[in-house]
Order: sequence, then structure tokens, then C-alpha cells
Amino acid sequence: MTVRTRFAPSPTGRLHLGNIRAAAFNWLFTRHHDGVFILRIEDTDSERNVAGSEQGILDDLRWLGLGWDEGPDVGGPHGPYRQSERADLHSAAVEKLIASGRAYPCFCAEPEAHDPESGMDRPARRYAGTCRRLSVEERASRLVSGAGHVTRFAVPEDLGHVEFVDEIFGPISFPANDIDDFVIRRTDGRVTYNFGVVVDDIDMEITHVIRGVGHLSNTPKQVLLFQALEEGTPVFAHLPTVLGSDGRKLSKRAGATAVTELQRQGFPPDAVLNYLSLLGWSHPEEKEVLTRSELVAAMSLDRVGKSDTQMDTEKLRWVSQQHLALESLEKLTAHVGPFIDRDRFAGLGADPSSAVDALRTRLSTYGDINDHLGLLFAEDDAAALSIRREVGADPEARVVLAAVRARLEALESWQAEALSDAVRAGGGDAGVRGANLFHPLRLVLIGAEKGPDLGKILAGIGVIEAFRRMDEALS
Ligand code: GLU
Repeated sequence: MTVRTRFAPSPTGRLHLGNIRAAAFNWLFTRHHDGVFILRIEDTDSERNVAGSEQGILDDLRWLGLGWDEGPDVGGPHGPYRQSERADLHSAAVEKLIASGRAYPCFCAEPEAHDPESGMDRPARRYAGTCRRLSVEERASRLVSGAGHVTRFAVPEDLGHVEFVDEIFGPISFPANDIDDFVIRRTDGRVTYNFGVVVDDIDMEITHVIRGVGHLSNTPKQVLLFQALEEGTPVFAHLPTVLGSDGRKLSKRAGATAVTELQRQGFPPDAVLNYLSLLGWSHPEEKEVLTRSELVAAMSLDRVGKSDTQMDTEKLRWVSQQHLALESLEKLTAHVGPFIDRDRFAGLGADPSSAVDALRTRLSTYGDINDHLGLLFAEDDAAALSIRREVGADPEARVVLAAVRARLEALESWQAEALSDAVRAGGGDAGVRGANLFHPLRLVLIGAEKGPDLGKILAGIGVIEAFRRMDEALS
């Protein structure tokens, strides 16, 4: 059996960490099983659709590297992949249920959810089943007269419980009595979420439905629909709730970090995917830093827990820092490059790799580079100058500076390692080492006694600028 999964977002805005987590789990699970991952856009609730958000969702998924095998842009054998374009299929399924007596037209006015007199929301009321009991003639005559109607699902009587097994939450038994004859098609002909999702999951041959636990309460209705349409149910796996960093439910307004925001801050997509995987799942050896292929290899539903998980920005930054540490200098420089604020750090040469090398241990995101470049390229040169003058006024420090400068001048290449050696050799010439060597040099070069390795600082600043700073101190 080929595993077939889907991510089915509604185009109501950009993705945030709470909703893209479901995409991440679907994708990892599917790639683990060499399956087919489908993107379906659930846009039937057109009132809620936000223009442009479908494209935004595609961009967010692509940035995270969650490619799909079938979807609205790439097509596939089970299309169309936009729910609003599947109306004929939905209607045919409604008609099939009506023909088999599992659904019926309902002419009752919808009870108003909102009471205009009291201004309060009325408690959701069970549908009394009035139109289920209409005679065949009565039904036909109302239909012929063109009376507006919805279509309701006829919940089987004497069912007892709706039962299914959730891969994560275990056996679920839901009293069928609590399910009333719910609407499957609205007056305007559009189907409701529960119906559309089942028809599409059947048609797209979905084997595993992996989604947020918020949908667990919809599943009994969906199970009934699968049965009524005479289809087997897919495997259901509901992922635990993701709470915001404040411990409250994620919402578009509070705590829901948009994927675009993480991209803007310079988080590597693989680190974000790694972090998302930890929201509900754990590695068999409790490893927390995992590459994309390690995640694919290790992902399984039986290591997903039921307990709520909480967004933790510090943890995300930590995971990201670990991913940055694994990158070669060449890759890291290429990734950091576009984030550098060139106007602020005009002294930085065309190739920032040495500066990135000097600062890399301080970075949790690519964008962090701008918080640290000031160490090498001070924005306040007047303050830096007065520190240099102060060091230059100290006769012992002058000897150190001059000795190191002479050693540096003799170098043919300015690689960090050779620079470190030259600094040490200069110290030897001047008869100093340790703090007496490093502190005056760092003060002159970066305005602080402590900081990155001196070889890396010198390489990061570059030869001309380093000599300028030393000469300023010596002059
Ligand atoms: N469109 C639904 C949502 O965005 C999908 C639910 C499902 O995966 O069944 O929540």
C-alpha cells in the first residue's frame, strides 16, 4: 500500500507555526514511507478566504522545503486540488446519499445562532429532525415549488456509539446520540467542511489523515460519512495542541509566529522543520538536533504524544544555533550574506566570510549577524578612537602593538590561523603572553578586551583596516 497524505489548509491567511506543524508531520511521515504528499486548498468557505493567501501558503511550504507531489499548481491524477473546483464531485456524492436514503432535503429555517433581542449567542441547538419525517409526496412537492433547502445527513438510528481508533489518542467511542442530522450541503449548493473533506479524502485515496487535535471532534461525523458512502476509513492521527509561548491557545492574533516572520529573521528552514518536529514528537534516542534526512528516517506516529506542547522561542533559537554550527563557512557565508545591512557596515569588504567566521559562534539566526558586526566595524568611531589613544599612551602596550604589527607585516597571507601564530610570535618578541598580549590588541582592534580569537578578528576586519587601527593607537 502506498501511503497518501494531504495537507488541507484554508486560504484564510499566511501559515503560522501552529498550522504548518501539521504540514511538517504529514510531509515527514510521507517521505519516511516513500508515499505521496498532496496539497489541497480548502476554499469552499469563500467568505473567509483572503485574497493572495493561497500563493502565500504555497510560498511558506516551499520555503520550508515541504514539497508536494500533487496539488493546485502541479496537478495530478486526483485533481482539481482546489476544493471550490470540485463542486460536481461533491454534488454527485450528495445525490448518491439522497438516493440511498442517507440524506434528505431540509426546508426548515436555520435557527439563528445570534439572538438579536438579547444580543447573546444562543446555545447550539440540535436539529429536531422535522424534515426527515416528511412524506415522499410532501418532499417532492416542496422541491418542485423551488423551496430553498439545505441537505442533511440522516444519522443512522440505534447506532449506540461511533467508534474509531486514533493512532495518537487511541480508541475513541462517541455517543451517536450526540450527533444530530448535520447539514452536508448549504442552500447555495456548497458542501460543508465535514462533507467536502470526506468526499475529497475518498477521491484522493488518502490513507492517513494527520491533523490537529481540534479536528478530533469532527471525526465521528466524518466516520459516519465514510460508512454511508460505503468506503473504508483512513487511519486518523490527531496531533496534540500547540500552545503559544504564553501558555495560551495559539490564535492569529496572539503567539502565532508567522512562517514569513521566521524567514525574515533568518532562521534556516531545516532548523524550523527540526523545531516543529519536536512539537509533539520525540526521537527514539531523545536527540533534539536532527537534519532533514535524519528526521525523515526517524519519524513515526507512535512517538507522537497526546500532551499539549508549547512554543518556546528560546528553544527554537537554540535548535537554530545548532544547525548554524553544522554549516561549512562557505555555506554559512552564502546564507548570511543577504541579511547583512551593508549601509550600516560599509567597512565590510565584498567577501564577508572572515567576518562571519569571527562571529559565527554568536549567531542563532542568519539575521543575527547585524547584532554582532558592530564588534568588528564599530558604528561610533569616535569612541573607538579614544580607546585606541588610551592604549597607545601606555608604553608597555606600544611595545606589544609594534612587535605584533611587524610580525603581521611579514605575512604573505591573511588567514586566521597564520594571523594567530603571528600574534603569538609578536608577543614572544615583546616578551608578553596571555592577557598582556591579547587585551591591548583587542582594545585597539574592537574596543573590548574580550571577544573572538584574535586571528579571526584580524581576518574579519581585513589587513588595511587592522593596520589603520593599530597605527592610530601608535601615532
Ligand atoms: N481545512 C481544514 C483546516 O484548515 C483541514 C482540516 C483537515 O485536515 O481535515 O483546518
